[in-house]
Amino acid sequence: MLDKMLRVRRWATLLAGAVCLFAFNAWADSPALNVAVVGQEPVPLRPYFSVLEDPGATLTLSDVQSEAAGRFQPSEVTTRPLNFGSTASAYWLRLRIDNRSTSAIDSMLEIYYPRLAEVDFYRVSSGLPLQSVKTGYARPFSERAYAHRFFVLPLPMAPGAQQTIYIRVKSPTSLEVPAQLWSRSAFHAYEIVDHMTQAAYFGMFVAMALFNILLWISLKERNYLFYVLFISSLASALAASTGIGIQYIWRDAPAWTAISFAVSGHLAMVWLISFTRRLLTTEALMPRWDLALRAGIAVNALLAFTNFVEYTSKLSASAIAVTAVLLLVCSSRGAIRGQRSAILFTAAFLLVLLGSVASMLRMLGVLPVNVLTINGIQIGSALEMILLSFTLADRIHLLRAEKEKAQQHLVDTLQNSEQVLEARVAQRTADMQILNERLEALSVTDSLTGIANRRRFDEVLQSEWIRAARGQCPLALAMVDVDLFKPYNDHYGHQAGDEILRHVARTFTETVCRTGDLVARYGGEEFAFIAPLTEGENAFAMAQKVCEAIQALNLPHTKSPIGYLTVSIGVAMVIPHEDDSPEDLIARADWALYQAKTQGRNRVVLAASAV
Ligand code: GH3
Ligand code: MG
Ligand code: MG
Repeated sequence: MLDKMLRVRRWATLLAGAVCLFAFNAWADSPALNVAVVGQEPVPLRPYFSVLEDPGATLTLSDVQSEAAGRFQPSEVTTRPLNFGSTASAYWLRLRIDNRSTSAIDSMLEIYYPRLAEVDFYRVSSGLPLQSVKTGYARPFSERAYAHRFFVLPLPMAPGAQQTIYIRVKSPTSLEVPAQLWSRSAFHAYEIVDHMTQAAYFGMFVAMALFNILLWISLKERNYLFYVLFISSLASALAASTGIGIQYIWRDAPAWTAISFAVSGHLAMVWLISFTRRLLTTEALMPRWDLALRAGIAVNALLAFTNFVEYTSKLSASAIAVTAVLLLVCSSRGAIRGQRSAILFTAAFLLVLLGSVASMLRMLGVLPVNVLTINGIQIGSALEMILLSFTLADRIHLLRAEKEKAQQHLVDTLQNSEQVLEARVAQRTADMQILNERLEALSVTDSLTGIANRRRFDEVLQSEWIRAARGQCPLALAMVDVDLFKPYNDHYGHQAGDEILRHVARTFTETVCRTGDLVARYGGEEFAFIAPLTEGENAFAMAQKVCEAIQALNLPHTKSPIGYLTVSIGVAMVIPHEDDSPEDLIARADWALYQAKTQGRNRVVLAASAV
């Protein structure tokens, strides 16, 4: 019975359709879609749409149902989504659906483009309105038929039901109407994956942004800030283009939704160029290209601002495309030069480009609609975020390597100069040593004769005295005095006298040459020699030799009865006792000398041994 009724109803519908076809000559143009054939994959709706342009945007549902109904044109049979470009017209789409199965079917009609200001759905059955939903970003989000980032209309269909769906779209932005029909279960499955993808993307963005803000604060390197600003603009552009912004972030803000994509896109370019310039040090490495990059910053900043005044979507798209090419050229040049950060940057850039191309090809119907192609830009830009963050990390690595190199260089230099300094100090010390020795030698040398002076004589006598006292050894001392030297000076002059003193000194040292003996000028024309470990007789013999050697010089002295220069020598010897002093020894030698003088000069007198 029910079956019969259904059959009758179907015939009636067909008949009504035929009448309409006859009346308006349009019904047959686009086929009706049987919702029963929709499986797990969504069905693109374009081939089923009839389209009516409403240039004045004045038509109402009853208009397009009645007098304007004949002006609907069948849409092209293609999987490419509808795109009317930038237009002030409203467009009406008409879609006939029926449920040719015996069970109720829930379908979901989805227009997967969020930036449409007005999207009005009308469900009509047998010419009577069933449901009307006025949505679009210019309407409150809460009024949507289904809370989703895109525009979704649930379509419950009883068995055998037939409905006509009218969709009116109008928008100041590009009028794209990519529409598809899902089975409810497939739509929900897709929705879960989609939510996960979006959450993963924006979650990653938040983590990256926070992390790099912290890096910027701690490292004070401005490029981290540029990076954060860039990914924020990128995320904002994506939030705009995916509808996430409308659903979760800025919700009902039609003025911003209209321009959000272009403004965010331009700002993303401004920050990306700033980031690139610093990362690749273009100012130093490629100054001409750097000028172009600066111009890119200016143009994008200007266009971002201009969008607030008037939509410049075509200009914006071209400017962003040109900037992208410019950046790609610059980073490729850096990469060719072997700049590691440029290689990473280029890879990152190509990834986001690949994602964009994939999603564009999906929009054009070339690539199938799936998670990868729908979220191409997200996936590409997520990878870009990660790679760009690597470039920053790589830069830290490079900077640290440079710092370590510089530090090593500094350490080497310091070590070097330390060595040089040490060598210099050693040289100076050696010089000083020599100088000291020379000074010391000078301080104990008599300047006229070059032999030990009185100071040296006193020192040696003192030390030999102690040594002899400790060892109870003999110590001999001889005092030598040039005979009649005053008359010599008076007769021959002081210079000749000096010369005589030098002669006597030389002869003296040549004669007394035993190791340990000391010959010294005692003062004036008096000399002395110290002979340690020497008995009185031996010292006497040595003095005798000196006396003879001087005489043998045959130095004329007319004022002397002998006629030659002679010396008198007094010798004394002692085995020192603790009570004695060196002065006693000197006194005894002096006494012996006095004896030699009084005995007629040119002789040696040995003082009697001390008791
Ligand atoms: P005597 O045989 O008794 O020692 O007679 P003398 O003339 O040598 O007596 P005296 O010891 O009193 O004279 C020392 C003289 O030696 C006085 C001084 O003119 C001279 N004389 C002392 N030192 C120097 C000197 O450095 N150079 C010269 N040319 N003469 C000196
Ligand atoms: Mg004298
Ligand atoms: Mg004399």
